[in-house]
Amino acid sequence: MTEELLMACTNDFSGLTRGKGFRLSDLDRKIASGIGWTPTNVQITCFDTIADSPYGAFGDLVLRPDSDTYLCAPLPGGNKLRFLLGDIFDLDGNPWECCTRGLLKAALTRFREASGLDLHATFEHEFMLPGGRGSGAFSLQGFAEHQAFAEALFEALASAGISPDSFLREYGPDQMEITLPPAPALRAADEAVVVREIVRATANAMELHATFSPLCAPDIVGNGVHIHFSLWDGDLPVTHAPSGRDGLSAPASAFVAGILDHLNAVSALTAPSAISFLRLVPHRWSAAFNNLGALDREAAIRICPLTETEFAARARQFNLEFRAADAAASPYLALAGLVSAGTLGLEADLRAASSTAEDLSLLSSTELDRRGLRRLPDSLGSAITDFLADASLLETFPSRTPGIYAAHKRSELAHVEEMADAKRFAAYAQTY
Ligand code: GLU
Ligand code: MG
Repeated sequence: MTEELLMACTNDFSGLTRGKGFRLSDLDRKIASGIGWTPTNVQITCFDTIADSPYGAFGDLVLRPDSDTYLCAPLPGGNKLRFLLGDIFDLDGNPWECCTRGLLKAALTRFREASGLDLHATFEHEFMLPGGRGSGAFSLQGFAEHQAFAEALFEALASAGISPDSFLREYGPDQMEITLPPAPALRAADEAVVVREIVRATANAMELHATFSPLCAPDIVGNGVHIHFSLWDGDLPVTHAPSGRDGLSAPASAFVAGILDHLNAVSALTAPSAISFLRLVPHRWSAAFNNLGALDREAAIRICPLTETEFAARARQFNLEFRAADAAASPYLALAGLVSAGTLGLEADLRAASSTAEDLSLLSSTELDRRGLRRLPDSLGSAITDFLADASLLETFPSRTPGIYAAHKRSELAHVEEMADAKRFAAYAQTY
């Protein structure tokens, strides 16, 4: 009989899931003791190069798997994908400064202190899955070509307690989309990691290659990660207030204003690859300005449609969607960035500007300035510069973390800088 193995994992600065394997029969012991982890691992980029590390060869950490995240997903062909996610601590038991999941937990704690509320979220993922006959967007035939994959995917996700809301043959060439129902924020980020890994593993098991790369070629549709969120007071939905501007409650408005104020810096965490900012331009249905938009698929934050008619049901359905994210970002870090910026808005009691209702790319720079509207950075390099200059956002992180993150991302940029475009896109498609 073969020995069953599993992995304890972290999803790190590169947005990739890494960890160490051990025997399933050792699971309880590993949950109790944790597994050893190396500080400099956080500087392993998405291309497996190592960025400058303040830790060098020194130090040790403990990755403690969270038993709530254990999953054993059946894959086509009979293999199983078995892993847990966890948190990294230093040897004194303190949350480690570069543990993305710990950073999200800390951001959620500060959010709760500022608002007394809970945050629910869900990550909507687009990805490319070549292997069909290229039938049209949203077509029944295109769906049918990928139905075996989708059914295997749903079965694998069910074993992780995830019940997707929908699976689409999206608009772009070979593009698919999967959406999940909302969950408490930490759980939502765990699920985003799980969805990416199960999509990749299911595709691999069917000898397909799925990629979440933000952009697979310069002239095609990008793969977005749209992060939906809503505020809750226990079981009570508190995002919506019919009398509030754009239907937003006071805390929702403050939270949105905080994100939009800090958007340039936040984008360094939510869209963190060398090609991410080619997607964040007008007319790509992604996000290009620091705006709130009602039912606008080019808004940085979109007020999502309501299909319910009763007030109570509408209040529960009301949610906002952050569109300037992609799967190069760790779900933990992306959400930590949003929550931290939103919390700054709550702490300062900000109020979001009115939603925009036009194509902002047609406005003059004078008009944009007058209305406080700003283009997103045009590259990861400038987003990193904005991130390092945003003192109030930086203060929400442990003091050394932003510098370590910036070094990581600058090393990734240097690695692809000299590549021809086609090679750069292929490198990201391979990695993500
Ligand atoms: N593919 C678009 C993006 O890059 C999103 C299209 C949509 O609205 O679903 O974000
Ligand atoms: Mg979509």
